[in-house]
Amino acid sequence: MTTTKAELYGVLLDLRTTFQTQLEQLEMAELLDGTGTGYTNHQADDATMVFDQTVNASSLLAARNRLRLVEEALAKHEAGRYGICDNCGREIDIARLEAIPYTPLCLSCAEALEYQARI
Ligand SMILES: [Zn+2]
Repeated sequence: MTTTKAELYGVLLDLRTTFQTQLEQLEMAELLDGTGTGYTNHQADDATMVFDQTVNASSLLAARNRLRLVEEALAKHEAGRYGICDNCGREIDIARLEAIPYTPLCLSCAEALEYQARI
């Protein structure tokens, strides 16, 4: 059974809710870290705390990025342009959309751009 773009719209709506919840939890954790970081008597505790903050900051960025991509995908759906590659304007393979419903790029463009980013 092949997933249709209409079905993926429902998936995107669910993902938006999931990512929003995740982002809120991460922001809450960051807020608590920000106010809670003080001096403790144990250096090891401080190191752990700094490590936790680093992890939170990068997961926060990733969560914001995912949510933005989902919102862009929903906007494209409403404009009737969902599943069109941002880079080359060709249809993105439905199997790729099933795997990552919020991807803005087709596989070959994603590979090409990732390749360029590494140079
Ligand atoms: Zn493309």
